[in-house]
Amino acid sequence: MSLSYEMENSGAWQTYLAQINRVAPYLEEDLIPFINTLKRPKRALIVDVPIVMDDGSIQHFEGYRVQHNLSRGPGKGGIRYHPDVELNEVMALSAWMTIKTAVLNLPYGGAKGGIRVDPRKLSPRELERLTRRFTTEISPIIGPQIDIPAPDVGTNADIMGWMMDTYSTIKGHTVTGVVTGKPVHLGGSLGRVRATGRGVFVTGLEVAKKINLTLEGSRIAVQGFGNVGSEAAYLFHKANAKVVCVQDHTGTIFNADGFDVKQLQDYVAIHKGVAGFPDATLIEDEAFWTVEMDILIPAALEGQITPERAQKLTAKLVLEGANGPTYPEAEDILLQRQIMIVPDVLCNAGGVTVSYFEWVQDMASYFWTEEEINERLDKLMIKAVEDVWHTADDKDCSLRTAAYILACERILKARKERGIFPG
Ligand code: NAD
Repeated sequence: MSLSYEMENSGAWQTYLAQINRVAPYLEEDLIPFINTLKRPKRALIVDVPIVMDDGSIQHFEGYRVQHNLSRGPGKGGIRYHPDVELNEVMALSAWMTIKTAVLNLPYGGAKGGIRVDPRKLSPRELERLTRRFTTEISPIIGPQIDIPAPDVGTNADIMGWMMDTYSTIKGHTVTGVVTGKPVHLGGSLGRVRATGRGVFVTGLEVAKKINLTLEGSRIAVQGFGNVGSEAAYLFHKANAKVVCVQDHTGTIFNADGFDVKQLQDYVAIHKGVAGFPDATLIEDEAFWTVEMDILIPAALEGQITPERAQKLTAKLVLEGANGPTYPEAEDILLQRQIMIVPDVLCNAGGVTVSYFEWVQDMASYFWTEEEINERLDKLMIKAVEDVWHTADDKDCSLRTAAYILACERILKARKERGIFPG
């Protein structure tokens, strides 16, 4: 069922367009003429990335960098390495970055990039060659004042380090601010690796308070145990919630008493997946969606919460760690069932917020402590939750629509005030 649903409603870009169409009726009349600016990307680059494999053969990979909107500042958004990457997906991910940076009021537009590749099948040297060649191919349209990549699914700090070094080599001098999410000794920021998971926890905590959901003892299910999912799970575990079910690409594990999340993190670091973790029952992947839970954290890929799964979910709160995990039709079902959704453009914005801090620190060549970073992050995330919550109250709409109203007003006002060149 889920597969046919995905095929019929193919494309994350379709999901994004449906979300934008939902917000239009709420916008001030003078902004409506500018809304089409959000319905197409400003710029999309498709590149061929040939590399010499370790066995001497040559392989070609397809890469993308899409700048969706630059009305409020340089493009900002991650780079994904995954076998399913395609233009439609990168376009949607870049658009969600436009909305996200505006919800947090960061001085950026939205961008995203990726390569259609399974990074697990490449050796470290092949991965480095792929990254350096891809960076060279997209170098004409990136830069600290133009478009600033960061990590996403399948990429990490090492890859950002190679990107920074390659771009710097092209420019002839070190340019730390061209990417964020770099290793700390290359101009990276303390707290960046854990920032997205932390943001999921902070926004989740704030919204849980508002709907009178007690964290202590609440049951949590997490899909995806990578950068975002594992940190969010860890912080909820530390707050005495029970992480009862975890799914990743290797399988789905369950323990009604809750996992020791630190032990699970250590296990995954060695075994590269959750399958086989002791003290857990391996269950069918589809059973993940019907486990008794209070909070669901999708933190893997988009298009996971289909209408059929939305009917069965027992959660009271969904925290979208992943980008675009919920189909619009599934969202309608969740809202009818009074299940609260903290949308991706708010919930997972912790990463881009600390990326912004990293970029600011690189520009100033002055670095903050981890305490300062976390304090500033929490403050911005809590402010964004309050802004979105009050807009939802005021307009009597969902948190997602409220976040889009806030963001679209900021973006379209900037567009209107800049005017359309040449006029
Ligand atoms: P990651 O590569 O570190 O982890 C991805 C996780 O998803 C892994 O545990 C993997 O096993 C799992 N996964 C992959 N395919 C799966 C499948 N078919 N079923 C179940 N699990 C599967 O990636 P990440 O950085 O944690 O990103 C996860 C999500 O969060 C993505 O949607 C990404 O766009 C979003 N996000 C990431 C950041 C960030 O800072 N890294 C920021 C904002 C949003």
